[in-house]
Amino acid sequence: MNKIVKGKCIDISSEGKGVVKYQKDIIFCDGLFIGEEADIEILYQRAGVYFGKVRKLHTISKDRIQPKCKICTSCGGCQYQQINYQKQLEYKTNRVKNAIKRIAKIDTKVNDCIGMKDPYHYRNKIQVPFAKDRKGNVVYGFYKENSHEIIPTKECMIEDKRAASILWDIKELIKKMGIPTYNEDNGRGILRYVLIRTSYHYNELMVVLVTSMLNFPGQRNFVDALIKLHPEITSIVENVNSRHTNVILGNKEKILYGPGFIKDDILGLTFEISPSSFFQVNPEQVEVLYKTALDLIDINKEQVVLDAYSGVGTIGLIASKNAKRVISVEIVKDAHKNAIENAKRNNISNIEFHCGDAGEFINSYDGDLDIVIMDPPRKGSDEKFLSTLINKKVPQIIYISCDPETLARDLEYLKQSYDVTYIQPVDMFPMTAHCETIVALSIKK
Ligand code: SAH
Repeated sequence: MNKIVKGKCIDISSEGKGVVKYQKDIIFCDGLFIGEEADIEILYQRAGVYFGKVRKLHTISKDRIQPKCKICTSCGGCQYQQINYQKQLEYKTNRVKNAIKRIAKIDTKVNDCIGMKDPYHYRNKIQVPFAKDRKGNVVYGFYKENSHEIIPTKECMIEDKRAASILWDIKELIKKMGIPTYNEDNGRGILRYVLIRTSYHYNELMVVLVTSMLNFPGQRNFVDALIKLHPEITSIVENVNSRHTNVILGNKEKILYGPGFIKDDILGLTFEISPSSFFQVNPEQVEVLYKTALDLIDINKEQVVLDAYSGVGTIGLIASKNAKRVISVEIVKDAHKNAIENAKRNNISNIEFHCGDAGEFINSYDGDLDIVIMDPPRKGSDEKFLSTLINKKVPQIIYISCDPETLARDLEYLKQSYDVTYIQPVDMFPMTAHCETIVALSIKK
């Protein structure tokens, strides 16, 4: 029996857990929000911090709502389903404010986080494992937090609505056709994951079947039956992953139906999305994000822009319309290749693409740079990149970040030479604790 203690939530951690003071220690408690008091079951301790879950709520926040998702307390994907959207945005704004004050130690105003009109069913990429439960029933859904136990999920509240019935029918079809799900323990079986990617601007939808072997028996009949049930599917791809690994996609691919990719638009440009392409998962908010970022700078035809950590080139391609020239740098080869194709598809020629580390690239680049737009992964940028910005006296920087704490760390470094002029959080991931932020910096005069 775990220990149960009484406590009051005084803050929200960067992972979206309620922060509770317990004697001289801290408990991070799932599903507990500011002002609420509860009996908390202590589950485990890690790095000097306790982790717990609510056993009984005593004081309930007025912002608590009935979650739309029935499994949100066990799935671990969403931290904020139980709190109203306005409050979620407030938590995100405060997270950025705290990081800026505590870590960056600057006093630039943080604007209120920009939310979505309808914060549900926004995700354009859905990936779920398939397996058998203890009773031998085929199940699919999400892994319980920190485990490989599948929580069966009939409908996920943040995913594109079109996915739910397709996943259900895939389950029914494999049962009927005797296509076995993969068993992680002994490596037997076939179907491992199903990935669905949907287009926001076009009637296009791709199903990727991640299997343990190429050309699984009954494949043709399965594809025909699925298309008959769901004519909205425009591509089906088999991706083979025979390795014993947590990575979802393998390297081998076979197109079973349609062109093998879908396309989607961002701010008027068209991008091709293949099974493994990186593409922003919230198609409505990505336009808000990019537009807000680009509105903070006046790019003109005399200027050279660097798009660092560029992914498939989206931001740089959009910025290229107003710039003299754009230079993009991205470390992942496939994304780099996609970026080159994306430029061709949109007939854009004033952009060049480099594949490699952003810090090394900028360090070795000896031309002029007027504006740097940087969008690093969660771990943030590094000293090589940041010190080169300072040495080269790049006049303007737009920093787009998906982690307020690493962003603040990098701003703390940049502030020796830059003024932070604008800070704008944007909600790309409603219902979760993730928070995107745009920051504008200009070199000190
Ligand atoms: N700007 C893009 C992608 C942002 S995600 C968009 O908005 O869609 C961050 C990107 O940085 C990823 O594509 C990742 O592969 C890339 N990346 C990570 N480390 C890098 C490094 N050291 N140098 C260059 N790119 C890097």
